[in-house]
Order: sequence, then structure tokens, then C-alpha cells
Amino acid sequence: MTITVKALQKTGPHEPFQVVDLERREVGPHDVLIDIRAAGICHSDIHTIRNEWGEAHFPLAVGHEIAGHVEAVGAEVTGFAVGDRVGVGCLVNSCGECDACRSDQEQECSGGKGRKVGTYNSVDVDGSITQGGYAQKVVVDADFVLRIPEGLDLQQAAPLLCAGITSYAPIARWGVGPGSKVAVLGLGGLGHMGVQIAAAKGADVTVLSRSLAKEETALKLGASRVLATTEEDFFRNHRDEFDFILNTISADIPVDRYLGLLKPRGVMAVVGLPPEKQPLGFGALIGGSKVIAGSNIGGIRETQEMLDFCAEHGLGSWIETIGVDEVDAAYDRVVAGDVQFRFVIDTETFAGAAVVAS
Ligand code: NAP
Ligand code: ZN
Repeated sequence: MTITVKALQKTGPHEPFQVVDLERREVGPHDVLIDIRAAGICHSDIHTIRNEWGEAHFPLAVGHEIAGHVEAVGAEVTGFAVGDRVGVGCLVNSCGECDACRSDQEQECSGGKGRKVGTYNSVDVDGSITQGGYAQKVVVDADFVLRIPEGLDLQQAAPLLCAGITSYAPIARWGVGPGSKVAVLGLGGLGHMGVQIAAAKGADVTVLSRSLAKEETALKLGASRVLATTEEDFFRNHRDEFDFILNTISADIPVDRYLGLLKPRGVMAVVGLPPEKQPLGFGALIGGSKVIAGSNIGGIRETQEMLDFCAEHGLGSWIETIGVDEVDAAYDRVVAGDVQFRFVIDTETFAGAAVVAS
């Protein structure tokens, strides 16, 4: 039998969120039913449901930063038991057979259409469109469920499932550690995790923000200084300073100019995905033999490694908790850069919310 849960959906990019009844699939032999306690608001949710990245399939519930408790498990599930603290990120299935899946990089699964399944707005194995975590419960294949270590608060852990892994993976891949001079470009949801993780790895971290407004909190997160990218002669004053830049910006910026902040052979890892194409002059790469690299969330194994790393180092997301009736307003505040640093929906507030008539 399917499971009826309350969820927040939009019927179009400019419509408000509505509380609706959503059917989750029956718990299959390899599935886990999760009672969701917290759902983070990622800027990707906003890009997607406002149709900024291409086709959103409406009605749609987004949300891929999910934390909660196991409520039930299928007959073949051995790794999880009722009551366990668990999370789900951006992926809920992949082919399991291609080179990417075999090397724990499920996020790059090339197993063909319909095989790699995102947590929302994605074609599921049964042909339906996946509905995300702004909901009371979700049913997920056990291979895509993460364990949230004791010591991590569920609300503060939820954003780690996307913002955490998306920052952690390039920092690990490019060998950031003691002696690295790192710049985190943009201090939002991804950026504030990037600062904490890079600092915990032993790097010297500078935050590059549009103003100095977040300076005090940035220093508390582990940065050694904050620079305002709007300061006079910014690009000239800070040429050749950094080994590594984590670019988390969600909007258009002059990327070439930021490459000038890298030392020769330095690396810019791009994780921010603005809706428009960004111009790039090859001269900015060739002079100084620099690298610009993309990075796409992270695989399931690395996501678990990141959660364990955060627990070990006492890291979590800095959050503002909201109710289900506050999500539209929260979206506007995220776009305005007015949140320190992640909104998390307290899904217990679904209990008092009326469902719209269908
Ligand atoms: P966010 O919380 O809104 O942070 C984005 C930051 O970008 C803001 O805090 C702001 O930093 C800066 N910014 C925003 N508008 C700007 C503008 N017009 N000019 C200059 N800087 C601006 O967003 P997020 O959730 O961290 O996500 C960031 C981006 O990463 C989004 O595009 C998202 O879709 C993408 N993303 C990618 C992946 C991946 O796998 N690669 C995963 C998750 C998210 P300051 O206020 O400090 O200036
Ligand atoms: Zn995300």
C-alpha cells in the first residue's frame, strides 16, 4: 500500500507553495521509510522550482537535504533498523553497474536515461517524477540512505547532505590541507560549509564576500580573514594569493578576473551553478597555467565520510529553522543573501497545516 504524507509542492514556477497529500511508494524489500524531521533549503531547490535551469515537472516538491529517523525497513534491509538517525541527499538511485557507480561516484552514473535518479524532478524507475524532501516522510532505496552520526543534531546535519558534500568533495579531491591558501567565494549555504571543512583540514581560509557584513560570523566559522570583492582595486590588490578557490556563487560574476587571484598552477573548483552561461577567456587560464574544474555533489561513500568527518570535528550547518508556511518568504531571503546560513524546515509543522483541496 502506498503511504499518504503531507508535502509542500508548487504547481508552477511563480505559484506559492501549497501543502498537499502526496503518495509515497510502498516500502519495497530494499527500501527504508524515513520519518523526516528536517529539510534544508538549497539554492538548487530555488533554481529548479523557479524553472531557472530548464524544465521543472509540476506539481513538484523539492528538497534534497533530508534528515530524520527510520520508521520501517524492507525485508532485505540489513544496514538500518527502526529508530536509526539517517539522511538522504541529492541521489536516490543509480545503475550500480557503470564505471562511475563501481568507483563510488554514483553522481556521475552513465547507466542511461532513467537509471540515475535525483531526489526530486527526476524520472524514477517506475516512470513517475521524484518528489523531494519538503515532506513528512520519504521512501528510499537503502543504498542511498546515509547514517547521521551521534553528536550531530538532525537539523544542523540536514544541510550537510548537499551543501556539506558539495564543499567537501572538491576540497578533498584537490588535496586542500595544512599550508594551503584557500579562498571561499560566496558565504552562503555551500560557502559556510566550505570554510568550516577547509579550516578543519588545516588550510588558511579567506572568505571573499560582496561586503564585510558577514565578517564576524566568517571568523567564527574558521576563516582567518574576510575580503570584500567590491573593495577598490580588489583584483589588483589580491593577485596570485591563493592555491585554491571554492567558487560557490549562484549568480553571474567575472570568472576570469577571479582566476587572477590564484597563484600559478592554482585551482578554481566551481560548484555554484548560475542559470546563465558564464564567459571564460582562455588567457586567464593559460597565463599561470591555472585549472578550472567543476564538481558535482559527491558519491554515497564520500557523503558518509563527510558526515563522519563533520561529527569528528564538531562541524554542522548554521541554520535558521522555519515552519512550512514560511518557505516562500525564505526563498526570497536566500536569493537576497539574507540568511546565516541555511534555512531548515521543521517538518513537525506539517502537523498543524491544512491540505489544499485537490
Ligand atoms: P546561497 O546560500 O544562496 O549562497 C550563494 C552565495 O553566492 C551568496 O551567499 C552570496 O555570497 C553569493 N552571491 C549571490 N548572488 C550574488 C551576486 N549577484 N553576485 C555575487 N555573489 C553573489 O546558495 P547555495 O545553496 O550555497 O548554492 C550556491 C550555488 O551552488 C547555487 O547555484 C546552487 O545551485 C549550486 N549548487 C551546486 C551543487 C553542485 O553539486 N555543484 C550542489 C548544491 C548547490 P555573499 O553574500 O557572501 O557575497
Ligand atoms: Zn543542493
